[in-house]
Amino acid sequence: MPSAPGECDLAVVGAGILGLAVARELTRRHPERSAVVLERADAVATGQTGRNSGVIHAGIYYAPGSLKARMCVAGARELYAYCEQREIPFERCGKAIVARNETELPRLDELERRGRENGVPGLRRLSPAQLREVEPHCRGVAALHSPATGIVDFAAVARSLAEELETNGVPVVTGCAVEGVEPRAGRIALRHSGGEARARFAVFCAGAGSDRLAVKAGASPDPRIVPFRGAYVYLRPERRELVRALIYPVPDPSLPFLGVHLSRHIDGEVSLGPTALLAPRHPRDLTWPGTWRMARRWWRTGLTEIRHLVSRKALATAAAEYVPAIRPEDLGGGFAGVRAQALGRDGKLVDDFVVSETERALHVRNAPSPAATSSLALARLIADRADGRAVP
Ligand SMILES: Cc1cc2nc3c(=O)[nH]c(=O)nc-3n(C[C@H](O)[C@H](O)[C@H](O)COP(=O)(O)OP(=O)(O)OC[C@H]3O[C@@H](n4cnc5c(N)ncnc54)[C@H](O)[C@@H]3O)c2cc1C
Repeated sequence: MPSAPGECDLAVVGAGILGLAVARELTRRHPERSAVVLERADAVATGQTGRNSGVIHAGIYYAPGSLKARMCVAGARELYAYCEQREIPFERCGKAIVARNETELPRLDELERRGRENGVPGLRRLSPAQLREVEPHCRGVAALHSPATGIVDFAAVARSLAEELETNGVPVVTGCAVEGVEPRAGRIALRHSGGEARARFAVFCAGAGSDRLAVKAGASPDPRIVPFRGAYVYLRPERRELVRALIYPVPDPSLPFLGVHLSRHIDGEVSLGPTALLAPRHPRDLTWPGTWRMARRWWRTGLTEIRHLVSRKALATAAAEYVPAIRPEDLGGGFAGVRAQALGRDGKLVDDFVVSETERALHVRNAPSPAATSSLALARLIADRADGRAVP
């Protein structure tokens, strides 16, 4: 078990897919520099990286020109290449975004326009008959098919990144929670559960803990991370044939999430979900003015999500709008993940990825979906910014 050095050139906080990708990128650029990754949990990838839908997004939804759009399209390409090179199982299974009725068609058109502007490869409009060829049990008046969308176990990708780091002499220290941050005499001092590490530069990729660590390092408390719990249920094994790959709704642009979708996972499971419920970590989350401003805006969605959460029947009914054969008794087991989503003081969810700066440090302050897909490209962007700071 590696231990944290007292002095190093670079410290990365958080061994999710993003922290590991950043550490790999920076140490590949500067192999002569000493580095360490500090992770609070007892293993890598136990945060969002280990509990998500496992979809390699192609980049359809995001505002053209945004970091999400650019990083997702580039990141997906790099991730496929990385998985091939490292022999990590993945599948380019494709995804259908399905319009249930005529009123959803203008929004499907807009998604197609965005996807094309973002450079998503291979997008194709499907008629109802073509949709049945792709997903025989799915119904809709039209669909947008993205053959470049795929599935992978992001935790397996993270473990592979950690393995590469350790092979190259970069310790990934688990069970090491960073509790204090303080710029000090040409260094940034990270007080952690096993002592103190002083680095010439630090990058914080701490997911749900990113706001608290940024504030400790002297950054603004705005935005705050507000965790949303997403619960998924599985289709019973004998009913998995109802979904070949990925079936998504046309999202309502006035709502913050993609809606209930049906996803095949790389291990063969098929999930329905998620629900998205505010999951405060601490009473402090409820004193953040943005939380109440957001709650006022989204209360109706919140109620629907609560209904889905308490009732398998409601979740099955939502999924049956796309795959009519799904019934509540087809569902069994499931999992939940907590999204670390930044929320502004004004009550608006921060849409794009955000990386901010303090003395001798960079902080990833918003890396929700599709940050796992985007991780290798986002790591390059973060490394460029670290190099631009001329430290270490
Ligand atoms: C339900 C759900 C579904 C999703 N689906 C997808 C999808 O299909 N495709 C996609 O691309 N993205 C998806 N995402 C988003 C994706 O999982 C995240 O964007 C990505 O994993 C972010 O990686 P990360 O390394 O920033 O965060 P994390 O994986 O959360 O890692 C942060 C790490 O920092 C550590 N940490 C926190 N505080 C400290 C501290 N004080 N000291 C030391 N370590 C600390 C944590 O223990 C954790 O390991 C989904 C997310 C969720 C929750």
